[in-house]
Amino acid sequence: MSAAAPKAAPRGGRAAAGNDAAIASDLYTLTRFIEVYCERKHAPAGGGLCPECRELLDYAEARLRACPYDPKPKCKACQTHCYAPERRQRIREVMKFSGMHFVKRGRIDWLVRYFLS
Ligand SMILES: [Zn+2]
Repeated sequence: MSAAAPKAAPRGGRAAAGNDAAIASDLYTLTRFIEVYCERKHAPAGGGLCPECRELLDYAEARLRACPYDPKPKCKACQTHCYAPERRQRIREVMKFSGMHFVKRGRIDWLVRYFLS
């Protein structure tokens, strides 16, 4: 697995404090996308996320916080595929599904937030 990145260079094992805002922003968007996906696809009783989606979100958060780059690039622009293939496939499905949901609802603001932030 190659870790080459064009702009940001890996440094140390932990994300720097300056990355906290970027991580929080990504995590917020990610959470919203997973919430919409789970609500529509799984409709867990009692609201919230089903165990499967909760686990996926926990995994995504752990990967985010473990990002070795400073400054942290947008995950979609990053050359390091830090997600395991199976998780990566699931998160892509979530992004695709919820992205369409936001488009249909006219919630372009969420897409702009995700793609341009
Ligand atoms: Zn779910």
